[in-house]
Amino acid sequence: MESALVSNLSNTCLLYSRWHSKRRMGNLDMLYPRNFNFPQLFAHSNLPKEVSEEFIWPSPADEMPFWKNKFPSRDASIEVPTDIENDSNLIHIIHVTAEMAPIAKVGGLGDVVTGLARACLSRGHAVDIMLPFYECIQKQQINDLALITAYVTFYDGNWVPTKAYRGVVSGVPVIFIEPSNEFFKGQYVYGGSYNELEAYLFFSRACLEWMQVTGVQPDIIHVHEWQTGALPLLYWDMYQNLSLKKPRVVFTIHNMEHYGECRKDQLSKCGLDGSIYASVDKILLNRALLLLTSLIGIALNSQGYILCHTNNFPRKAIDDRTIGHNPERLSLLKGGVVYSNAVVTVSPTYLKETLCSGWLASTLLRNREKYFGILNGIDTVIWDPATDVFLPAKFHARKPEGKKICKYYVQRGLGLVLEGTLAGDPVPYITHNVPLIVCITRLVAQKGLHLITQAIKHTAELGGQMIVLGTASDARVQREFEDLANSVIYLRMIERVLPANGIKGLAVGKKKIIVSYLQVANDTKIFSTGAEEKVDNLLIVHNQGSSTRILLMYSEELSHMLYAAADMVLIPSIYEPCGLAQMIGMRYGAVPVVRKTGGLADTVFDMDDSTNHEIANGFVFEGIDEGSLNCALDRAFRHYREKPDEWNSMVQKVMEIDNSWNNTASKYIEIYNSIRVRW
Ligand code: ADP
Repeated sequence: MESALVSNLSNTCLLYSRWHSKRRMGNLDMLYPRNFNFPQLFAHSNLPKEVSEEFIWPSPADEMPFWKNKFPSRDASIEVPTDIENDSNLIHIIHVTAEMAPIAKVGGLGDVVTGLARACLSRGHAVDIMLPFYECIQKQQINDLALITAYVTFYDGNWVPTKAYRGVVSGVPVIFIEPSNEFFKGQYVYGGSYNELEAYLFFSRACLEWMQVTGVQPDIIHVHEWQTGALPLLYWDMYQNLSLKKPRVVFTIHNMEHYGECRKDQLSKCGLDGSIYASVDKILLNRALLLLTSLIGIALNSQGYILCHTNNFPRKAIDDRTIGHNPERLSLLKGGVVYSNAVVTVSPTYLKETLCSGWLASTLLRNREKYFGILNGIDTVIWDPATDVFLPAKFHARKPEGKKICKYYVQRGLGLVLEGTLAGDPVPYITHNVPLIVCITRLVAQKGLHLITQAIKHTAELGGQMIVLGTASDARVQREFEDLANSVIYLRMIERVLPANGIKGLAVGKKKIIVSYLQVANDTKIFSTGAEEKVDNLLIVHNQGSSTRILLMYSEELSHMLYAAADMVLIPSIYEPCGLAQMIGMRYGAVPVVRKTGGLADTVFDMDDSTNHEIANGFVFEGIDEGSLNCALDRAFRHYREKPDEWNSMVQKVMEIDNSWNNTASKYIEIYNSIRVRW
């Protein structure tokens, strides 16, 4: 997919280059309305010495996309930092997860698992990650990959041959589980042609089965999200009664949106009797059975598995709480909450929000004593602009010049700056004076899609530039953003550009001119009805213009470069359990513009709030309407333009904020220690 998108992008950029050739464009005047008056905010800087020689600026016409370059630096992210003092009580933690960065990352879950694992390793704890061996994982990113166990795992009445491999990723030992069936095949982490829920049920059991056959018993099994929510059930109701005794289970909920709704028969496929968990009556019956089995010690369940319950886990709950939101379904998320020894969500504010509203609120309230809110951190070695291998110039709070180089590099690479404006100054006017805002996100409703599109429009109105890097799993959203990327034109420019493009006889009303122009500019149909309606407003922007790039793809490398290039990072989420983009953005000197919700409310404090002056670090809005967003953008742009010194101090300030795991891993370790069993 990426290559198709890249070629799409280079096509649009090629078009852009032709259209904006110096011959045709003349000067910058053509790119911006005359009434915009950009103040000179920064003194022009020279290229830092280390990048000035043999440095090749990218262009949209380059064969290899510019973000595929690696720039000289020691890649510190492949090893775990060792200069941190060991904790006194060392424990063994195994994370069981559907994602880990960078090899199987879709969103923040991947970052968090890798970051937390590395933080614990660096404090001397033993940590492993268990991950499905997705077909899409690039094996060259794994060090020392080797087959360690061939075994069988139960699924749907059969024992499925399964392999466990060990390897090292970003310094963390990883155990990859590879079934011999169709699970986890395909080009992407999610969305394969197999049944995803059943695949993760299989995976949850396969991880425990691996521990059982190898005799590995960690102190803590740390599971994440609904995908591994069945593991605590399997552990307490099956494996605890076989040979696994020592582990205690921590469950982190990164996002409550997905309940992991599961039919009884699906749960039964992993060997648990789904009906036991699905009805209160049966549950009562089962309780009686439990009592009996605890007296006689052993019983066989309907599928021939040993079900040997004892009373040694007082918190074990088999009751109506595993029944799903849809009463016909079970919820793995809910099961995970009920069956784990400790439940964590990813920010204090999200914890409060989830206790007050939402389908799980009553379950969480009932489990309040074991429910914690711990703010995520970021891995400040992986996310370090001073050493980042993906950046053409490195920088840090005390030496920020490289950031301008990164901005200009990205602007040139995406065709957001004219060729030929370089004379005498390597970093031109547009880089110093036009604020660049980035939004790097999954394109899903949670992220405030209407606010993202509004930001694109308003940024152009304000004379700024905006880059969206995102992927949409929903085909309708994907199409909407494709339309946005491809459509849209600026009438003022059309009137002047049209004759130069040899299009004549179109003086028949504005809309028609625009349509004709767009048809010439790009052979395909390029704007949606929505865009067409807006044409009369005359300020819709697109990938051939000079203010917007909408890049519909996933690219870890490009994300690093965009954070480094950005003056601002936008996160207009409707809800946001924690959010990493604002923390990463700040680390790379991008000032956050965010909606006040969840973890965003815990990490970003408004510049114009006089009660918060000490901690103020961005621009915050509360409403979910376009006006609220506009107002925050207006304020941010005014600060950027009218108070350059203050802005530069703010950039330095946000880069120095410590959102690292060093700050928060200790809270997880406290929880691990509070529930572990000492043998
Ligand atoms: P969520 O977990 O809801 O997706 P977070 O803000 O917690 O949101 O984490 C998102 C992570 O995924 C960040 O590291 C962000 O940079 C990254 N990310 C999101 N979309 C993309 C993309 N299209 N390309 C590269 N990285 C992305």
